[in-house]
Amino acid sequence: MAGFIVAIDGAAGSGKSTTAKGVARRLNFFYLDTGAMYRAFTLKYLQEKSVGIGEPVIKRLLQETRIRLEKEGDEYHTYLDGEDVSLKIREPEVNRFVSQVSAIPEVREWMVHQQRRIAKDKNVVCEGRDIGTVVFPDAQVKIFMKADIEVRARRRKKELLEKDIDVDLAEVMENLKFRDQYDSTREHSPLRVARDAVIIDTTNLTIEQEINLVEKIVRARLKSL
Ligand code: C5P
Repeated sequence: MAGFIVAIDGAAGSGKSTTAKGVARRLNFFYLDTGAMYRAFTLKYLQEKSVGIGEPVIKRLLQETRIRLEKEGDEYHTYLDGEDVSLKIREPEVNRFVSQVSAIPEVREWMVHQQRRIAKDKNVVCEGRDIGTVVFPDAQVKIFMKADIEVRARRRKKELLEKDIDVDLAEVMENLKFRDQYDSTREHSPLRVARDAVIIDTTNLTIEQEINLVEKIVRARLKSL
């Protein structure tokens, strides 16, 4: 059977990436990181910004943009126009601007179209902010993950350190708060809980527990079909 979608939404640091990857690995599903796609386009936007950017430029940029997500061994890589930008898209500069760029309606429209194309006829674990509400409103499983801000900031700092990016905890927390606020209040497809999503608070859960929980929900749903 193909075309089974697990939609995982939540704020940054809520545990959704680690959980989504873990569940995809266990079930042999395709892992679709939509945040990486928004980040990759933000990188392109930032490179172009000096020439002045308005709607026509954004449309042209989108037309010229190619984003590919590849699994290489156990690692996931993001390619922007053929270049591996997996590390660059995690840099503070991208963190600072990604929410503003992601709020542009043309960008969202383009992304949703690409995401549906990538997922077509596949079994997918897809993570982001608007997956259960906008991208795949008919997803067979919808999860919404949340966690305390302090815990989220610590997790994010650790993740960044593993990539050799050293940022102050206070700065990480400020950026998370800023993005939470921006992503939840934007006009187009804001971050919100889908009506039929299962809410999981990961504050006191280990990664293993998070993955087990979501895997259990997915397997139960698969069995019921
Ligand atoms: O998930 P991640 O933290 O990498 O996402 C980076 C940013 O991309 C988010 O803060 C949000 O502004 C944007 N995003 C979005 N919709 C998605 C995924 C990410 O607006 N589906």
